[in-house]
Amino acid sequence: MKRRSFLDRSTLGVTSLLIAPSILSSKDQEHNTVSNLNSTPYVLSTWNVIKANEIAGKALDRGSSALDAAVQGVAYEEANIQNTTVGRGGSPDRDGTVTLDACVMNHKGNCGAVLAVENITHVAALAKEVMEKTPHVILAGAGARQFAIEQGYQLENLLTEESKKAWEKWLEKGNYKPEINVENHDTIGMLCSDAEGNLSGVCTTSGLAYKMKGRVGDSPIIGSGLYIDNEIGGAVATGLGEEVIKTVGSFLIVELMRQGLTPQQACEEAISRIVEKQNGKPDFQVAYVATNKKGEIGAYSIHSGFSYTLYKNKLNKNINSNSVY
Ligand code: ASP
Repeated sequence: MKRRSFLDRSTLGVTSLLIAPSILSSKDQEHNTVSNLNSTPYVLSTWNVIKANEIAGKALDRGSSALDAAVQGVAYEEANIQNTTVGRGGSPDRDGTVTLDACVMNHKGNCGAVLAVENITHVAALAKEVMEKTPHVILAGAGARQFAIEQGYQLENLLTEESKKAWEKWLEKGNYKPEINVENHDTIGMLCSDAEGNLSGVCTTSGLAYKMKGRVGDSPIIGSGLYIDNEIGGAVATGLGEEVIKTVGSFLIVELMRQGLTPQQACEEAISRIVEKQNGKPDFQVAYVATNKKGEIGAYSIHSGFSYTLYKNKLNKNINSNSVY
């Protein structure tokens, strides 16, 4: 949805949508259920992560909490060295070092994140440990790595031969620019709703390929790469993190849903906010997926080529999101 049509619609008799729940009557708030007992669990992820989605979905079907299921699901891709955008095998920074970012957020609004971590594969699990075992929300760099060692994580070489070769080829180009193009974005964002209707989410990435040392994108930033409000819904981002951070994209989507937009409308508006700041349609990609407490989902991207994966009722499908700005 273009921003103008969104604004037109906003002014055409939907002012009630803009009332925040905090000023709704208590009767209205009763309908705004926080937890739907006996809900159908589902998993919604960015990109084609069919196996990770299935692992999370099956965990939910067995009664796992939404957060445990999401962390288990993404762990599959973090360990998959064919995937050059998360975990071990992820593309390195421009100096040849793989640094990973991740965050988690649960239905209680608790969250944890790790930024620019070296030598640890399962950074989503580590982010969950930051949430559960420290008084903090974010641990970065050497501190996050040290915390991982204290928690018993193995140090690993995350740079595979394949990723090293690709980096060396990139070095030959001699221009120190990170690779920014529509294909170069595969962060895994995963939203899970468990049998009690509680929502949690995870975002895990190796970030932009050949980024500057120390660069951190949106993925581990709560509100940008991921946001959950268990009364409303959740959203997760992939793509050029700098642009997602500037618009606090995932938080924006959840707040738009709070005002009454569907997940689809909210994703479209969040993409419009990014695109309309550019001179014409930009060549970078950003995509969002979102869900609300009714189990409705939305997906939208700047460019085509984005897909998402949905597990529900034991059906697990990768779906091309043809919904493009
Ligand atoms: N959002 C990630 C980042 O900017 C990249 C991606 O989604 O691939 O670090």
